[in-house]
Amino acid sequence: MLDKDIEKVLVTQEEIFQIAKDMGKKLSKDYKDKFPLVIGLLKGCVPFMGYLLTEMDIHLEVGFMDVSSYHGGIESVGDVQILKDLGIPVHDRHIIITEDIVDTGKTIKVIKDLLLYRGAKSVIVATLLDKPEGRVVQLVPEYIGTTIPKEFVVGFGLDYDEKYRNLPYVGVLKPEIYNK
Ligand code: 5GP
Repeated sequence: MLDKDIEKVLVTQEEIFQIAKDMGKKLSKDYKDKFPLVIGLLKGCVPFMGYLLTEMDIHLEVGFMDVSSYHGGIESVGDVQILKDLGIPVHDRHIIITEDIVDTGKTIKVIKDLLLYRGAKSVIVATLLDKPEGRVVQLVPEYIGTTIPKEFVVGFGLDYDEKYRNLPYVGVLKPEIYNK
């Protein structure tokens, strides 16, 4: 039923599962004995973070923040609002931020700077997708699942107007859907 709105698939479900496996393995090795705090940025992080966590064979803590920057459209408006704060002290903690996509980089930069200001020992970014052509701030995610072109994508956590987050792959919407 959702497939009919998709023009093309960019990253398949099998590819995403493999990305989660590989990234989870690497993070487990790099964060062994560090008891990292893995922070998901709601709501887009949900499916990928879920798979990633189950591929991490180390002790870790999980937290969430709800931040908004898109306000339901297809272009970033740039301002980042914290809708729900973390509620966990970060002083001296090693932090892994899990994201669905890094585009302009503004969201991650704001959150990263905030966590460092609060005393985190280290803050790195693990993202399913990277759109480097969209970058307006200097930021390179430390763990990248796959790089995609500067296109508006939906699925696997990514929405258009709160819809399509449950699509089991990442794809590009048919233009008529957002021109409606
Ligand atoms: P940034 O601050 O890096 O520009 O954007 C980060 C947030 O913008 C992402 O977490 C995501 O919510 C949203 N975003 C960026 N690019 C896309 C996209 O192609 N599709 C969707 N659905 N959201 C996007």
